[in-house]
Amino acid sequence: MMAKLKRHLILVAFFALVPLTQPGTAPSNWADAAGGPNTAKPGSTGFASKLGNVGETRTLEILPLVDWNTASLKLRGEAGVSYLVRTDKSTILFDVGGNLENSDPSPLVANMLQLGIKLADIDTIVISHNHPDHVGGQTSMFSRTFSLDSKPVDLRGKRVYVPIPMTYPDIEPVTVLEPMVIAPGVATIGPITGRINMGPVDEQALAIRVEGRGIVLIVGCGHQGLSNLLTRSTLLFEEPIYGVVGGLHYPIPQGRVIVAGVDIQRWATYGSDSGPTADDVQREIDLLARTGPQWVSLSPHDSSDEMIEVFRAKFGPRYHDLRVGEAQLIAGVKP
Ligand SMILES: [Zn+2]
Ligand SMILES: [Zn+2]
Repeated sequence: MMAKLKRHLILVAFFALVPLTQPGTAPSNWADAAGGPNTAKPGSTGFASKLGNVGETRTLEILPLVDWNTASLKLRGEAGVSYLVRTDKSTILFDVGGNLENSDPSPLVANMLQLGIKLADIDTIVISHNHPDHVGGQTSMFSRTFSLDSKPVDLRGKRVYVPIPMTYPDIEPVTVLEPMVIAPGVATIGPITGRINMGPVDEQALAIRVEGRGIVLIVGCGHQGLSNLLTRSTLLFEEPIYGVVGGLHYPIPQGRVIVAGVDIQRWATYGSDSGPTADDVQREIDLLARTGPQWVSLSPHDSSDEMIEVFRAKFGPRYHDLRVGEAQLIAGVKP
């Protein structure tokens, strides 16, 4: 309980630069940092043709390295995201957490140590979007870079894919403007602009093409909106959705972070609007259910326990809790 309270207090500092006194307005500094209208790219329905030469993978394992819930007290949780995605041929770090307490080591690095994950194991890094809980903190966000730890980490030799122009020392990140294949059986579906209160944000998700099963979407914050994610996947791939893992942003009835009576996650998304209700979420869940997914796992970093229970009720044994340190073996056999 104290640990979670502490995390809340840290987030006060973390969001302190956001002008909370003017709810309903989108701070231009957030918008500028996140991408949005300055970045020209095709719209969310602008892809008429299927993505070619994607290849496929037999194995897919997702190991959450940073998120709100943890599988063990030895691991550190925070309202951020970092997942290790392992396929036949590639090991991808999807987002780098938030290091919201600016600790040394960061939760990401501490959890990697605890779980025996080495930097050398990772060949590719993908940043979903430029929000602090995904790029290693707000200093990184405002500088349009990302950080795995409180001190610099040498990433030379790794491939890096970002949704807006970003820099990193000694690396040339690839700015993803449209859907592209980044490893055998692994594609980014390309940025989709989410229009939220704190400013437009360009966010990309991963799509893994799993042999004999279909497409598994791996999502960061889900600002794209679930229906846009599903539509984009249908436009790009012949195969059905097999799984959806990650953040879909359902802070309903409230988010993880309440500061001085302000629900930060709700405010950042909906401003002074009341935002979606549980019924609205139910409609989205029904939409997802109609695609027939066999594996659903909702990130608790930006969705409430209540919404997680609604997902669990809908998908039953196909729903999987998302916890740091608990590998989700979606396809393949345990090593
Ligand atoms: Zn997030
Ligand atoms: Zn976000």
